[in-house]
Amino acid sequence: MPDIAIVGSGPAGYYAAEAAYKTWGADARVDMIDRLPVPYGLIRSGVAPDHQSIKAVANRYQATAQAGNMRFCGNIEVGRDIAINDLARCYDAVVLATGAPRDRPLAIPGDTCGNVFGSAAFVGWYNGHPDFVGLDPDLSGGTAVVIGMGNVALDVARILAKTAPEFSGSDIVDHALGRIDAARLDRIIILGRRGPHQIMMTPKELGELGHLARARPHVDPMDLPAIETDSALEPGQRKAVAQLRNFATSVETGATERLPIDFVFHATPHALIPDQAGKVCAIEVEATVMDHGSPVGTGKIRRIPASLVISCIGFRTTPIAGVAYDERGGHFANLDGLIAPGLYCVGWARRGPSGTIGTNRPDGFGVIERIAADLRATGSETPAKPGRDGLDALIRSKQLNPVSFDDWKRIEAAEIERARPGAPREKFVVISDMIAASDNKPTGA
Ligand SMILES: Cc1cc2nc3c(=O)[nH]c(=O)nc-3n(C[C@H](O)[C@H](O)[C@H](O)COP(=O)(O)OP(=O)(O)OC[C@H]3O[C@@H](n4cnc5c(N)ncnc54)[C@H](O)[C@@H]3O)c2cc1C
Repeated sequence: MPDIAIVGSGPAGYYAAEAAYKTWGADARVDMIDRLPVPYGLIRSGVAPDHQSIKAVANRYQATAQAGNMRFCGNIEVGRDIAINDLARCYDAVVLATGAPRDRPLAIPGDTCGNVFGSAAFVGWYNGHPDFVGLDPDLSGGTAVVIGMGNVALDVARILAKTAPEFSGSDIVDHALGRIDAARLDRIIILGRRGPHQIMMTPKELGELGHLARARPHVDPMDLPAIETDSALEPGQRKAVAQLRNFATSVETGATERLPIDFVFHATPHALIPDQAGKVCAIEVEATVMDHGSPVGTGKIRRIPASLVISCIGFRTTPIAGVAYDERGGHFANLDGLIAPGLYCVGWARRGPSGTIGTNRPDGFGVIERIAADLRATGSETPAKPGRDGLDALIRSKQLNPVSFDDWKRIEAAEIERARPGAPREKFVVISDMIAASDNKPTGA
């Protein structure tokens, strides 16, 4: 029976754990380590707070956590608290399921201006990720420019556009709800380098923009390609483009249209312009044309006022000392999930930030299949590893304070208890508060 460590408790980690039980039975020893005291990765801190039905997938992960011989060891960061080599010495296989939590940088002049954020930070802020509690975005007026034409950009624009009552039933954290409720933005722009046919948005999420209380999406009809050309698109994309066509033709609703959400296509960010206080006041964009599927700059620059900029242009895995890294792809260097003998990766840490939650399932099953095959091939030659006893020894020697799944259940119960009326939970956003709610005692106490 192999001892497996899975680092990261997001979808990829849980699907790998589920696969381990399907492969070796409920006695398979799986230790899941996460740097936070709370599980579920982006299900908790990425998926939009007003999309509770999507977040419900966590129930499935809980069933996995409670079904087999699995331990959750939260509040331990691999690479900081425990070195990868130390972990690898304990387990037959270590699977890195650490996601891609860093923003891909905008890398244009002025990108360090005030009130310019990446989506990992901004989404983390409204979802209560402890790393981003102190973000302090200024939403007091002007134009918010959301860079990117994917679903994360849609999430960000929608959350910025909503009124407080529209968050009813969501688990947006209090600090963000207060700030968004008080926001006085007068325009939101969703800006992309490519054209309407190249958006990476799904029809359902796009459609939601058409049902907001105070905001209305708008597409300039001049930006839309001839309707006959839509037939060359695959069906999902055709539906998404049909939504854009709706936004181009929808009748002006006069008084209710207080907050426009404008789509700006064929515009690549060129520079961010600060005001005297160093805060962003405009974005310069270069007009593009499509050439063989890629946007090419035309040299025509224009300036758009911007009081807040959020770039939703992708994510990168955080490197871990001693683990090979693919700089170009922004994830661990791997061959079908194998990084080095006994060391694997899965999910966004393997393939970068693509696909849906469900895409991580075959990924998780694939990596366990590969581990099983590798163990079969080398098993008899490999000396026995200490498994979780080895991890416990490391935890003791480094005086770490792990959070168990039962501890997490206590945190969860406290979050449910303190929820505002109608909300599923009010998350703790500071690690020490999570630990206090877990009623956790330091190891050895
Ligand atoms: C803003 C946003 C919204 C999204 N909305 C949707 C949606 O509506 N529907 C959908 O299908 N998909 C959505 N996705 C995509 C989905 O969230 C991802 O496919 C999925 O979460 C990737 O899973 P993962 O396990 O690879 O990474 P993650 O979910 O990021 O999990 C990684 C885990 O690893 C932990 N970790 C990181 N580093 C370490 C370390 N060194 N040591 C220990 N632990 C560590 C983290 O704390 C985290 O728990 C969204 C993504 C984003 C960014």
